[in-house]
Amino acid sequence: LTERIAGEGAAAWNIHNRALARLEAGEDITVLSVGDPDFDTPTAIVESAVESLRNGATHYPDIQGKAALRQAIAERYRQRGVEAHPEQLIVLAGAQCGLYAVAQCLLDPGDEVIVPEPCYVTYEAVLHSTGASMMRIPLRGDSGFRLDAADIEAAITPRTRAIMLNSPHNPTGQLIDADTWQAIAELCLRHDLWLISDEVYAELIFEGEYVCAASLPGLKDRSIVIDSLSKSHAMTGWRLGWVFGPEALIEHLGNLALCMLYGCPDFIQDAAREALIQDRNSPQLKAMRESYRARRDTVCAALANCPAVQVIKPAAGMFLMIDIRATRLSSQAFADRLLDEYGVSVLSGEAFGPSAAGFVRLSLTVKEARLTAACHRLASCAEAALEETGHLSTVQ
Ligand code: PMP
Ligand code: GLN
Repeated sequence: LTERIAGEGAAAWNIHNRALARLEAGEDITVLSVGDPDFDTPTAIVESAVESLRNGATHYPDIQGKAALRQAIAERYRQRGVEAHPEQLIVLAGAQCGLYAVAQCLLDPGDEVIVPEPCYVTYEAVLHSTGASMMRIPLRGDSGFRLDAADIEAAITPRTRAIMLNSPHNPTGQLIDADTWQAIAELCLRHDLWLISDEVYAELIFEGEYVCAASLPGLKDRSIVIDSLSKSHAMTGWRLGWVFGPEALIEHLGNLALCMLYGCPDFIQDAAREALIQDRNSPQLKAMRESYRARRDTVCAALANCPAVQVIKPAAGMFLMIDIRATRLSSQAFADRLLDEYGVSVLSGEAFGPSAAGFVRLSLTVKEARLTAACHRLASCAEAALEETGHLSTVQ
């Protein structure tokens, strides 16, 4: 088996799988270890897929994506003030497939891609699968995991091909600010780099402005935007996303899609079009976005007075980073103890990169009452650990 396809991404979910197994066995477990919305896909989208199936959408689809769907995606960008054309878009099986396909079409062995870490758990395996290297730059918990463009600049070498960013960010929920975007755009131009921008949480912003990488000055021909309906419309299981980039790259991706995927199911593309032409302020979508904000505020309030933890308040997305360094447990040991003794599953920050050691990631994917109860359990776990280590340090 080739070592290029390694399992780095998979190990992060071990604790999640353990939690699911215990839940299935009937135990009282609160699962906060995955970013899968607990909302159903809005009814009109489901109806559209059913109707499309009834109308015979059961054949090979258009490999680049149906023109009507690409038109609707382009229109969504135009509504956000970003110039986009259907020829600059390809529809793929979720943002994950987009990330993988872009890496295959862009990178050669020996290339370097700069990635701020912590980062989404699959990035490393995606980049390694091409023979390229992921060059990590740190996002520091002590400064709220904010990205500093100077760290990117310092990591650029003659082998750097691309900068890969994710804003809003998984796992920290932070947004890249306008000045930093500007500085990054200048770096890309000065050093002839691609900008790969994973924007899957763009619709879930609580405070701050969404910036689409393709709208940065001078970056039209070197930005690659990856997005999907997974989080914006609670459609993780439909596997529908896209890549928005220069036409030559999209054509190249089309060649790969032909030999890899042969297009996304026709009826899912019809439903995706329905999703995109829906008003983003439709009651169901609005209620969903508001729930994430309310849940974020619930967690911040529930943990505000716990001396053993600190919440890094997210500006967007569906995750929250919690600083558990005061407990002196490693983030994995804390997550294990929280699941084993208190029945709550979160992910260890270290699964996302070494700079998140001492943090755990909590997902905002259960209703508020349950979330509040889970926060109380988390606080009890942290306080118990703090007491033990406090006791140990006095006897030593
Ligand atoms: N990028 C990030 C940052 C993610 O968190 C995820 C998981 N939701 C993905 C990509 C993959 O998303 P999709 O379901 O669209 O493949
Ligand atoms: N992206 C989501 C997360 O970070 C879920 C991805 C998955 O289930 N593999 O939790």
